[in-house]
Amino acid sequence: MMNKKFVSTVLGVLCAVVSMAQREDSIAIRKIANDVLINGQAYENLRYLCKKVGPRLSGSAGAQKAVDATARMLKEAGADTVYLQPCMVPHWVRGEKEIGYIQVAGGAKYTLNLCALGNSEGTGKKGISASVIEVTSFAELEQLGKAVIKGKIVFFNFEMNPTYITTFSAYGESGRSRTTGPTIAASYGAIGVMVRSLASNPDDFPHTGVTIYNDSFPKIPAVAISTNNAIWLSKQLMKKMQVTAYFRNTSTMLPDAPSFNVVGEIRGSELPGEIITVGGHLDSWDLAEGAQDDGAGCVQSIEVLRVLKANGATKRTIRAVMFMNEENGGRGAAKYLGLAKLNNEKHVFGLESDAGGFTPRGFSLEMRADQIEKVQQWQDLFYPYGVYFLKAGGSGADVGPLRAIGAALSGLSPDGQRYFDIHHAATDVFENVSRRELHLGALNMAAFIYLVDKYGL
Ligand SMILES: [Zn+2]
Repeated sequence: MMNKKFVSTVLGVLCAVVSMAQREDSIAIRKIANDVLINGQAYENLRYLCKKVGPRLSGSAGAQKAVDATARMLKEAGADTVYLQPCMVPHWVRGEKEIGYIQVAGGAKYTLNLCALGNSEGTGKKGISASVIEVTSFAELEQLGKAVIKGKIVFFNFEMNPTYITTFSAYGESGRSRTTGPTIAASYGAIGVMVRSLASNPDDFPHTGVTIYNDSFPKIPAVAISTNNAIWLSKQLMKKMQVTAYFRNTSTMLPDAPSFNVVGEIRGSELPGEIITVGGHLDSWDLAEGAQDDGAGCVQSIEVLRVLKANGATKRTIRAVMFMNEENGGRGAAKYLGLAKLNNEKHVFGLESDAGGFTPRGFSLEMRADQIEKVQQWQDLFYPYGVYFLKAGGSGADVGPLRAIGAALSGLSPDGQRYFDIHHAATDVFENVSRRELHLGALNMAAFIYLVDKYGL
């Protein structure tokens, strides 16, 4: 029978071992943090991606330039191997600058700030014109029905709910006006759609983003108008005035084009068959530099690879992946999963940064309950670097598919209050990224991967 003294001695030794390991980890993470904060390359790599490469919509020349540029950056970061994974991507082109206006009761024309939604059909050279009907919910659309909607332009005025503290929740909810709104409006006979931009702030910029057509209904042209335009338009409609809209976009979907995921790898010294993926998406919308969305996630992932390599050998294989085509197809992510299956790879962990390069707040964990518990025991190691929560939630669109092969997943959760001010708009530029915030995100990602590599999950 074990006596109390023996038990307490064993516990004491265990505690000492645990705290010694924690001390060791805290020193290692401090070293990683200092390296990123002093020598980090993420910000300069982002400057290059934004200013020398620029917009990089799937299938465009910019996207190819981004493939070449990040392959070089990964080599410079110290990857043992850098390679490309070919994948076919949708090739949508915006065409000429969109034009549009509103006319109230046959009066003067009020010019709109608008842009075609990603993957939208064009209107043809002449454009389309019809009276406008506003809806603020899908239920309202259903209530109005075909009799009212047929032949009209539907104006989806789905404001991002300002009472939600998590802006991503508001985006998720109102975002349906953009993703499925056009196809639902078409099912009631609408000829075109205008959506209120998904932006947290009233501004004059249209914010684009993908729309997803259902093949069972006509593909009608769809544009985003600025939040200020939407607020004004709604006021005109409230006066029960006859409001007509005109818009013209010459967007087209071309045949699929060849493109690539870019992968940089450091080979594990003890368990090379166990793979840890860290990534962001390389493609961006065509209206801006894709600085926060998601140049930030790409350069942070490259930085993770750089600092872990500089820190010494990793047990497991670490891959920094620049996923192609997150914005309007997700083909890069599908390809990455397809190859992982084909090659029978063992994926232990996937970490994504695609919520902006703002001050990190936490990590959202998409994994088994026992794994969450294990990760939460590392909380104290993250506190000094501003990561205050490790809790269950989603990961990201690009690493997400790896759940099918049993990988534990996570997404970096930065402060999201300013993300939707600039998301998918011309204002998503390098100047709106802070070096310090970007590097804080990168160092926390590196710390997380350091711990998963050391202890497994
Ligand atoms: Zn993104």
